[in-house]
Amino acid sequence: ITIGVARETAPGERRVALTPETAKKLVAAGTEVRIERGAGFAAGFTDEAYAAAGAQPVDNAAAALDDADVVLCVQPPPVERLRVLREGAVLVGLLAPHADPDRAAAITDRGLVAFPLERLPRTTRAQAMDVLSSQAGMAGYKAVLIAAQLAPRFFPMLTTAAGTIRPSKVLIVGAGVAGLQAIATARRLGAQVEGFDVRPETREQIESLGGKFLDLGVSAAGEGGYARPLTDEERAEQQRRLGEHLKGIDVIVTTAAVPGRPAPKIISAAMVAGMKPGSVIVDLAAETGGNCESTRPGETVEIDGVTVAGPLNLASSGAVHASEMYARNVYNFVSLLVRDPALAFDWDDELLAKTVWPERVAVDPGGPVDAPPAS
Ligand code: NAD
Repeated sequence: ITIGVARETAPGERRVALTPETAKKLVAAGTEVRIERGAGFAAGFTDEAYAAAGAQPVDNAAAALDDADVVLCVQPPPVERLRVLREGAVLVGLLAPHADPDRAAAITDRGLVAFPLERLPRTTRAQAMDVLSSQAGMAGYKAVLIAAQLAPRFFPMLTTAAGTIRPSKVLIVGAGVAGLQAIATARRLGAQVEGFDVRPETREQIESLGGKFLDLGVSAAGEGGYARPLTDEERAEQQRRLGEHLKGIDVIVTTAAVPGRPAPKIISAAMVAGMKPGSVIVDLAAETGGNCESTRPGETVEIDGVTVAGPLNLASSGAVHASEMYARNVYNFVSLLVRDPALAFDWDDELLAKTVWPERVAVDPGGPVDAPPAS
């Protein structure tokens, strides 16, 4: 079994899907691992470290990928590259097949067995493979650091010869994986932290991190542990209570998402206008349109004295640890397939069956039924 990894090509992407640690484990499992020279450099991993782990550094993406049985990536390789991969090769990464029709066509035309890891079911067994969680943790952490950097205040309370400084009041909107890491990070910096979410179980999680649960009187737990979209009445109620509350807040970090939909708009332009000058909003949902009406994805703007940042791909800005976690997630997933000397696909395993794209037609448990012989 050959496994290939090329340099990431998406602008600004510093992460890598293979680390020397996971290369070593894949080699120990009997595979041959090729990595394009320099692929790990932006994440702090040298070609020498990969070679020492038993992987072969090769000169270009073609040499790494074109005859590999399994291609590992963070973001998908360019469409031209997908079109020349081995027919039937396995592709594992954050593939977002719906985001680009050409990419989707390349995957299906080439018969690639694509596993977009964002489709992985979020079951207990899948936790060690859950790239959305591992990368969201880094994003939530970095979002708070960006907010602290942009804010014209201290986060902690300080007692100094020049008097006492009040701690910053930080509100985290959405207490999923990123939001909880944001709460923990803001607390470590000494801020007074509040969080809210529409899933009621987050109250206890927010409190266990030393945050205060902001009760806006709206509860909207949906399927599979995710949130559902709010009804118009629920949204109006949330907005009314929130608008009042934001007048006393110094920093907001928003992380709210509903799977498969644009980010819910929670902070209106009017709410931004009602905030104190010098307040800061960091909108982690910028990638899917933003939780704040004033967010411009990829930019930092100032509106009526309020700074609104919409950073993109924050996990990449913590490329060393984000890659370590991502590569372990990928290794754990690929381990389901690697059965030296060949790949094996157990389509009864829901982690494979639910992740693969395009969706496979359910196989009759009795096996395929042959057409009766013509008489
Ligand atoms: P996500 O990125 O889809 O959403 C982030 C948060 O935004 C969620 O907590 C959601 O409830 C919240 N939200 C949505 N609409 C909102 C609104 N209008 N107002 C306020 N908040 C809103 O979610 P995620 O962080 O990827 O995961 C959600 C949850 O799924 C996690 O907190 C976790 O409990 C669960 N999960 C379980 C596993 C597992 O058991 N294997 C793995 C990952 C996540």
